[in-house]
Amino acid sequence: MSSFPISLDLRQRPVLLVGGGEDAARKIRLLRQAQARVTLLAPALNAELAALVHEGAVDHRAELFSPAALDGFVIVIAADPSVNEAVSRAARARGLLVNVVDRADLSDFTVPAIVRRGDITIGIATDGAAPMLASRIRAQIEALLPSRLGDLARLAGDFRSNAARLLPDAESRRRFWRRIFDGPAAAQVLEGRLATARETMLRELNRSQDQAIGIVHIVGAGPGDPDLLTIAAQRALGAADVIFYDDLVAPALLDRARRDAERVAVGKRKGSHRIDQAGINDLLLQAAQAGRRVVRLKAGDPYIFGRGGEEVDHLAAHGIEAVVVPGITAALGCAAAAGIPLTHRDLSSALTLVTGHAKGGNAALGWAARLHAGETLVVYMGLSQAGAIRDALLRHGVAPDLPVALIENGSRPDQIVSQGAIADLPKLAARHGDGPTLLVLGAVAARARVTAPAAVSLRKIA
Ligand code: SAH
Repeated sequence: MSSFPISLDLRQRPVLLVGGGEDAARKIRLLRQAQARVTLLAPALNAELAALVHEGAVDHRAELFSPAALDGFVIVIAADPSVNEAVSRAARARGLLVNVVDRADLSDFTVPAIVRRGDITIGIATDGAAPMLASRIRAQIEALLPSRLGDLARLAGDFRSNAARLLPDAESRRRFWRRIFDGPAAAQVLEGRLATARETMLRELNRSQDQAIGIVHIVGAGPGDPDLLTIAAQRALGAADVIFYDDLVAPALLDRARRDAERVAVGKRKGSHRIDQAGINDLLLQAAQAGRRVVRLKAGDPYIFGRGGEEVDHLAAHGIEAVVVPGITAALGCAAAAGIPLTHRDLSSALTLVTGHAKGGNAALGWAARLHAGETLVVYMGLSQAGAIRDALLRHGVAPDLPVALIENGSRPDQIVSQGAIADLPKLAARHGDGPTLLVLGAVAARARVTAPAAVSLRKIA
């Protein structure tokens, strides 16, 4: 069997629902969303249904089913095993469409699993064969579709007649809608900035030339495990024409981009600066001005030691608005991967993120004060400064046995975690080197699960 999907307009239409239990309650939620006029037929109702009747949301007939009960209804749903067969038979005899919960054999129609975004409804039907599978697929689609997609549909609807009037030929109308759905306007709606999106759409509508404005997403890639990408990051990657990525971005993440997307490495590894920040800023701007969808992919979170702010400012100064997609910063990703609770009721009540480059004078004094107070200190870019950091902190009175943990390639297959006392920090640091490494200082660091890379031997075999 292959069913024929339709979208029924049931507003104010009379629907009969036979049954007073949980199955009926599940159906009634959907029917109420569709604004159907529901009559419940059941000798007794469960608490949820009784409450609905009480507030006047649905009608109730406290009687047993008889065929005469079908008079005047457009469709019938049966959710009471003791009368389901009778309801189906009677409805079919009258040519009424009937659905019987969990009984495809007695049904003329089934109710698909549904994903809704405003006025957009997506139904997943398995013709009653595999409801569990339908709900799985539903969950996948839920994760895929932006939560504000319905707003986008509504806004597009508002502009439809104006677009038709101002852009009489079909081709320029098509280009207009492509600029809307692929460009800043859609991104603004999906971020929840409806008023700005409306202005952008007006501007697009009034533009004489067809030159598209590009869009830049500054995307946090997280610490490396592709499963730690956010849904928004995944979406931006999937839509990008060009991706400018850092050295620190794990290669596995680029696999999540469109296959034909251009990938440009703009790494700035210590010492061997390939392209400086000003150069990156210009690359982003040029690509956006050429009308491309640009992703600037950065390790962790763009706004944590990531210079995301500078890129945003540069683009804004040239009239291009960037969208920042947050990412899981190294501290969070590494802590989870190494088993370190960054705060803990008994061990630490505050967390500070610092860069190892700022280890001198007052900075180290401030760090020591936090460690004295029993707080957690996470040092980014601190590996090469390990000796200086230890010396400065010990000088400021930090106990030599204060726990430290070092996490290299956190959340990646080649993660390495080591743990010890701050007095030994340089020795511990010497075990690390090639990958990005984070230092965690404070009592919670003692909790680190020390590991050698899990995948090294596997990779060697491969
Ligand atoms: N914006 C990034 C940080 C960039 S600074 C973020 O939010 O995570 C670069 C430093 O981040 C590295 O020197 C290292 O200290 C840390 N780092 C980034 N990814 C890491 C990872 N997977 N494992 C360990 N440290 C990491």
